[in-house]
Amino acid sequence: MAEEQCRLCPRQCGAAREKTPGYCGAGTALRIARAAPHLWEEPCISGTKGSGALFFSGCALRCRYCQNYDISFCRKGNDVTPARLFDIMTALKEQGVHNFNFVTADHYIPQLVPVLEKAKEAFDLPIVWNCSGYESPGMLAMLDGLVDVYLPDFKYADSALAEKLSCAADYPKVALDALERMLRQTGKPVKDRAGLLRRGVLVRHLVLPGYRKNSIDAVKLLAGRFAPSDFLFSLMSQYTPQGRENTPNRRLTRFEYESVKEAVLDAGFDGYFQSLSSAASVFTPPFDGTGVG
Ligand code: SF4
Repeated sequence: MAEEQCRLCPRQCGAAREKTPGYCGAGTALRIARAAPHLWEEPCISGTKGSGALFFSGCALRCRYCQNYDISFCRKGNDVTPARLFDIMTALKEQGVHNFNFVTADHYIPQLVPVLEKAKEAFDLPIVWNCSGYESPGMLAMLDGLVDVYLPDFKYADSALAEKLSCAADYPKVALDALERMLRQTGKPVKDRAGLLRRGVLVRHLVLPGYRKNSIDAVKLLAGRFAPSDFLFSLMSQYTPQGRENTPNRRLTRFEYESVKEAVLDAGFDGYFQSLSSAASVFTPPFDGTGVG
């Protein structure tokens, strides 16, 4: 992987990552903050034994309100070689996980492709790509044939809000295009007999306090472009105030969540609705190097 100037993601920041981390905070080495069975994804991902979650450090989107700030902004984590990552995946498989869940790994795609190729041959477990929705066509082309399940966010219909909270006015356009490419790769959702997702796309949307209109517009945008059976939908309520500048400083109200839920049901999407009690930082796992060191 030679990246004199990285232009991998839609940021196109041009960092010389061998010397200086890019906008995403990543250099060239893979950096992981936690690798462990994770029980708090949707039931079709976590099942009964957990999803084999690999939390990568850094992020190209870097939303101001990020719930995983320690790893997305502060780069907490340990550098690992691709061979070590494969060993970590082997250890997760031995713990009985249902899948391998690559959480916010976009900025490492070129380094991960050989690991994913090897994992496809070695393990009969789905590869889940858990991402922000802010992926370029080139990134998704590299993952074609290697990812079984995409778990993208669809955060914003409102470009001005995307700019305000994620410095990414192009998010709605980029994410819609990315979703189309993901669907072309995986096809419609396929579950096994235990109800676990083996292939397909599950779109997540986090309702932000004070921005109900953005959420309803996001649902409408998706409904105008895709059929309800194309993907599963997960409406999330877990926003937890972090006290950062320009971010909502309260929890979501029942009215806000229920009104967006109504829009999701009107659109005919099938999927998951999170309870308001999920809005607690206790649901963020400790990024303490578990399974990595
Ligand atoms: S992946 Fe990181 S370094 Fe590369 S263009 Fe995106 S933000 Fe910049």
